[in-house]
Amino acid sequence: MKTGVEYIDSLRQLHLNVYMFGEKIKNPVDFPFIKPSQNAVKLTYELAYDPQYADLMTATSHLTGKKINRFTHIAQSTDDLVKKVKMLRLLGQKTGCCFQRCVGLDALLSLSSVTYDMDQKLGTKYYTRFNDFLRYVQENDLVCDGAMTDVKGNRGLKPSQQADPDLFVHVVERRDDGIVVRGAKAHQTGAINSHEIIVMPTLAMTPEDKDYAISFAIPTDTKGITHVIGRQINDTRKFEELTMDVGNATYGVAGHEALIIFDEVFVPWERVFMCGEHEFSGQLVERFAGYHRQNYGGCKVGLGDVLIGAAATIAEYNGVENASHVKDKIIEMIHLNETLYAGSISCSYEGYKLPSGTYYINPLLANITKLNVTRFPFEMARLAIDLTGGIIGTMPSERDLRNPDVGKYVQKYLKGKADIPTEHRMRIVRLIENMTMGTGLLEDMHGAGSPQAQRIMIARQANIEAKKKLARTLAGITEKE
Ligand code: SF4
Ligand code: FE
Repeated sequence: MKTGVEYIDSLRQLHLNVYMFGEKIKNPVDFPFIKPSQNAVKLTYELAYDPQYADLMTATSHLTGKKINRFTHIAQSTDDLVKKVKMLRLLGQKTGCCFQRCVGLDALLSLSSVTYDMDQKLGTKYYTRFNDFLRYVQENDLVCDGAMTDVKGNRGLKPSQQADPDLFVHVVERRDDGIVVRGAKAHQTGAINSHEIIVMPTLAMTPEDKDYAISFAIPTDTKGITHVIGRQINDTRKFEELTMDVGNATYGVAGHEALIIFDEVFVPWERVFMCGEHEFSGQLVERFAGYHRQNYGGCKVGLGDVLIGAAATIAEYNGVENASHVKDKIIEMIHLNETLYAGSISCSYEGYKLPSGTYYINPLLANITKLNVTRFPFEMARLAIDLTGGIIGTMPSERDLRNPDVGKYVQKYLKGKADIPTEHRMRIVRLIENMTMGTGLLEDMHGAGSPQAQRIMIARQANIEAKKKLARTLAGITEKE
């Protein structure tokens, strides 16, 4: 396992082609916008060395028998699935933001079973190839960027029907030694903090779209790859000298996302895990989505713990912690947060073994969990904003607090309870501002798939016919089905 310091060193070995704000970033590792999100990933390495968290943060590789970081582990039991959720909650509590490393883990988890299923049915040789890659990831303790979402163009058209054939990543050339691909993946969480990109198709493909049914892994700095980092709300605050206004200066409140462009990128065959097997692309999408939706009642609940703590703290600083409506709002937040956790924990305990030996979650419950995440954190944010008061939208900057002329007025007039330093009140307000009004909340809606994607899966999994039969039986409707 790598230490946190070794992880940062390993990023320095990469030569990523990165852009933000219209400029090429020469040194992404020390780029102020990236630094906080990088600290969050770094913590996934550091906590693995903390004996207190070893049980959650580490696992035993089923390939090598060695101790590995759980972020590279293929679940071998429901206990592993449960520990994954608990690990994510822990990291959410410690970082208060997206720590990015789970997407790559979910790509590994899904490929570990789909490559096996493909080989069984089609006689391909993907499973061995995949395990070679997995061993490499485990031995080097790497971060993988799980790249599923294509840019998609006209959402009403299939990949091959698009006016521009590159709107979904596809094979443009097949060679003896590998394939050449073109296209782009959007919203790539943690791209700049990753060593490898694992590409997967974004939807179930038809025979006409078989060139789009591809999956492969390549280093993030492979020739032909360009990363364009997306803006976030309040992003330029990260470039300021004083850091209080970021709200969570160490970890930065949200992770980061990038548009990854593949311009004629060569992928050697040993890194190709699907190439034209269109009938398995839907299965890969579903497995990946299932695992990632499992997560959201883990990581987001950790963030919820921080937000509840912040809301209770500001109520205290404002002197209203004993008001009954305040207590009630805090209880409501806890109720919503723990309901999310219940979903993730239950879909993990109801997990089951796939033919490859990998454990999979209960997909209905995982989708229910994620659909709840498109709602409950928004309600929690509303309650936290309510409890914070109007100051959340009008508070002067840290520069004003430090200013020799107006600083004394900010100190005096932004005070809550007499014994609480004004700066403490300002700090907690900034944290709440950034957790409830920033880019992080948007991830609750669209991360791991937008709400409609969960509804489709829920409709598929719910077995409504069986429910109708239950009702007819009790109602005494006995005519032949
Ligand atoms: Fe991990 Fe959650 Fe971020 Fe997804 S949103 S990468 S599950 S922390
Ligand atoms: Fe996410």
